[in-house]
Amino acid sequence: MSINNLVVLGSGLIGGSVAKSAREAGVVNDVIVLNRQIETSDRAVALGIADIAKDYSQLAEVCGSLGQGDLVLVAVPIYSYASIFDQLADLLPAGVILTDVGSTKAEVVNAAREHWQGDLSYFVPGHPIAGSEKSGVEASDGQLFQKRRTIITPIEESAEFAINRVRDFWESLGAEVDIMDVTHHDEILAATSHLPHLLAYSLVDSLVTLDQSTEVFRYAAGGFRDFTRIAESDPVMWRDIFVANRDALLKQLENFEEHLKELHVAITDGDTQTIESILERAQAARKVFSETSPKN
Ligand code: NAD
Repeated sequence: MSINNLVVLGSGLIGGSVAKSAREAGVVNDVIVLNRQIETSDRAVALGIADIAKDYSQLAEVCGSLGQGDLVLVAVPIYSYASIFDQLADLLPAGVILTDVGSTKAEVVNAAREHWQGDLSYFVPGHPIAGSEKSGVEASDGQLFQKRRTIITPIEESAEFAINRVRDFWESLGAEVDIMDVTHHDEILAATSHLPHLLAYSLVDSLVTLDQSTEVFRYAAGGFRDFTRIAESDPVMWRDIFVANRDALLKQLENFEEHLKELHVAITDGDTQTIESILERAQAARKVFSETSPKN
């Protein structure tokens, strides 16, 4: 795998980590990062994440310098995609591959169809299943994608050449790549990522509004820490994800509410058999996950 130019739009945690991983893997000649503020791009260069720092006023100049097989990666919050697609549509030369890292895929594809209005054959959406509660360029990690899955969700128009190039790129960063339909991706991620974030935020919020919240947090220990780490994630990013994937998330939330109700009734009734069987089933499933997942 070898890329002449990798352009990263938004060098935050994920964009910065892609840029850093690509440089460390030696698969790219130049990494160009674009941010709204040139200072953020300059910081990426200073941290050794990128070679060239630009801001959006220089997007036309950057696009003009790209050629066949170069890669442009969008790594901004979901509801910022529309304006990026608007700007890129007139600027990106044919043969340059466009991909992204957005956590929900239907919203991204809808934004592309609405705002691109050109040839989408070089567009291959993607989503690395790796990240953390941290944000920003300083949190970039050159090993973030090692042995982690990346899902790519090609659309009808995506050309074979572009799909292969995006897959090869992620594999060169150490990721295991799965190809998935857009709707299926959003359903699975609603269950495995979006619902857990919603529950973590909601739990912390419900505790912070208690009268004795100061005391509750003073005595919170490992269990609280493990369960709620992800509630430190960026609220704007997660607000966008919850709304963008509303239908799939609500379906998972309803399923969860039913299960919670079952436990609620069992505890109310002192039904120890039901409580134990639910906990045992969950414990067994969690153990399998721990044993088979590369990192927890
Ligand atoms: P981040 O906050 O670390 O970085 C976001 C980047 O987008 C920054 O460079 C910021 O300057 C830029 N940005 C913010 N608003 C913008 C706007 N209106 N226009 C242009 N640029 C803007 O966030 P992140 O965690 O790197 O998330 C970026 C994308 O990656 C999101 O689409 C998110 O869904 C996806 N993602 C995140 C994770 C995770 O765990 N954090 C995992 C996988 C995918």
